[in-house]
Amino acid sequence: MTIFLSIAGLVYIIALSIFFFTKKKISSKELSIFKCLIITTIISLVSELLIVLFRTNKYFLISDVCMKIYLICILIWTMIFTIYVFSISDIKRFKFFSYKFIKPVYYILNLFFAVAIALLPISFYQNGNIGYSYGPCIDFLYSVSFGYTMVIILMLLLNVKNIKNKKYIPVFFLVILLIISSNIQKMHPEILLINFIYSFVVFLMYFTIENPDLQMIELLNQAKDQAEKANNAKSDFLSSMSHEIRTPLNAIVGFSNGLIDNDKLDPEAKEDVKNIIMASDSLLELVNGILDISKIEAGKLEIIDTNYSFNKIFEELVLLTKARLGEKPLEFKYSYDESIPEYLYGDGARIKQVILNLLTNAVKYTKDGYIDFRVRSVIKDDVIRLIVSVEDSGIGIKKESIDKLFSKFERLGVEKDTTVEGTGLGLAITKRLVEMMGGNIAVQSIYGRGSIFTVSIDQKIVKGAELEKVKAQENVVKEESSTIDASNKNVLVVDDNNLNIKVATRLLTPYKCNVTGLSSGQECIDKFVSGEKFDLILLDDMMPKMSGSETLVKLKEMPSFNTPVVVLTANAISGMKEEYLKKGFDDYLSKPIEKAELNRVIKKYLG
Ligand code: ADP
Repeated sequence: MTIFLSIAGLVYIIALSIFFFTKKKISSKELSIFKCLIITTIISLVSELLIVLFRTNKYFLISDVCMKIYLICILIWTMIFTIYVFSISDIKRFKFFSYKFIKPVYYILNLFFAVAIALLPISFYQNGNIGYSYGPCIDFLYSVSFGYTMVIILMLLLNVKNIKNKKYIPVFFLVILLIISSNIQKMHPEILLINFIYSFVVFLMYFTIENPDLQMIELLNQAKDQAEKANNAKSDFLSSMSHEIRTPLNAIVGFSNGLIDNDKLDPEAKEDVKNIIMASDSLLELVNGILDISKIEAGKLEIIDTNYSFNKIFEELVLLTKARLGEKPLEFKYSYDESIPEYLYGDGARIKQVILNLLTNAVKYTKDGYIDFRVRSVIKDDVIRLIVSVEDSGIGIKKESIDKLFSKFERLGVEKDTTVEGTGLGLAITKRLVEMMGGNIAVQSIYGRGSIFTVSIDQKIVKGAELEKVKAQENVVKEESSTIDASNKNVLVVDDNNLNIKVATRLLTPYKCNVTGLSSGQECIDKFVSGEKFDLILLDDMMPKMSGSETLVKLKEMPSFNTPVVVLTANAISGMKEEYLKKGFDDYLSKPIEKAELNRVIKKYLG
């Protein structure tokens, strides 16, 4: 009977191991445990067979040695299986359990058990066909195995909630089969059942362990590559869309800004122009929002820390919010801690974007009552924690919607109210930006009564010599903001889009310089070849036939060429500026051209 069971066990465990070991696998703790169990089962089954064979042929010494090996294998198997049960159980919730402490104790204890099994005496009972081992060694192993079985049962009970998890199936079978076999062995001690049970449990485990072979990983990698390609295609699409939208927007913003300064315009027309500027500003905001979220998702958005004036940002935010309030019957209260130093070190532009978003939302979602914008602070050494709160008495947010608030494209309860414009991108971007700056954002709201959004961000305080430097720079900037007179300077604007040339010409009018417009890179090169001289070139990059970058290379090949070239581009993705400077451009202007930026460039190259 025992021979039959051992051979049967050996056959299927060998078949299983051939199947298992010939397939390539990635290594994991679970697979290592499984490999150890297979090997121990095979050794144990082989020694079991040898015991039976040598005992019947009266080679007692060999059969005794095999007996010890067999018993030690049973101990090792039980020990490894207990480790497996722990590894699939949620033991972290038992706070007393410390792996660091338990591991060495566990191994030392088992080493002690193995030595005891090797040394304790063993006797053999033989009566005709019936033969079995007994004595202190067997009793000792029984007691240890009984202890392990109790631990396994305890783990099974503690994880009763996870019992549906298929990994517990072999554990469950092991316990049941051990209970049945111990009863059978009481009546028929000559039948060795334990190895048969162990090989059956190993067999069951094969179907429940996580078994990711390399082929599957390859498939996953392929899927990942495809997803990445699709994501890149999306980013490319978004950046080209942003480019396409910015180009006509440049014309709209440029011409409107030119008109608003025109004194001949009657008040009604001026009001229309103001509205055009406001509409194009929100369109630009939308394009920037889409670009921001795609940049954040692609991990390309960077936080750029510099010294900035906190007061200036606060004032700008107040002005912008007042402008957005328009005719709304809302009281706008604002204040900030006097103790906040004027100059801080951090990404001021992003902080402004975050707060502006909260203020814009407060204006959007409040019909009447008030908006309270406050900045408080906590200073520790050279770090200041800015605590910005924006409170409103608006529509409020339902409790169940708060979780969805920061998900992109999620707009709450505004489905029916089409008068409130928005994309659901603002708060998603805001949260990500705040997190990227190491801060956090919280919201409290009572539906129908109002909301408070609070953002806290740590910034460094600019002190000492650095502060003096910042103040000096600030003075230079103030000086630069006055329009300069560039009457006898020649500026060349190269852009394939005629409207863009007109916008640039209009924006350059206050500087009184002579502007020449050209519509291709080749024309620009011809102009220089013919010997004409210019003081500055504003060169569009994306042009058909010859791009701005290619034109620049050709221009630089001319020995006498030394005119500063500023790239003019609607490609406003972060990192673009650095790329253009690397290519050899002297400066960078993004479309729509901002007056202040243009002023800086003119001052630098024509001043
Ligand atoms: P958008 O305003 O463009 O829809 P946001 O991401 O800024 O997108 O806001 C997401 C949603 O959160 C809004 O659609 C609105 O339902 C809700 N919300 C945001 N701010 C407020 C606020 N101050 N009061 C009430 N609801 C708000």
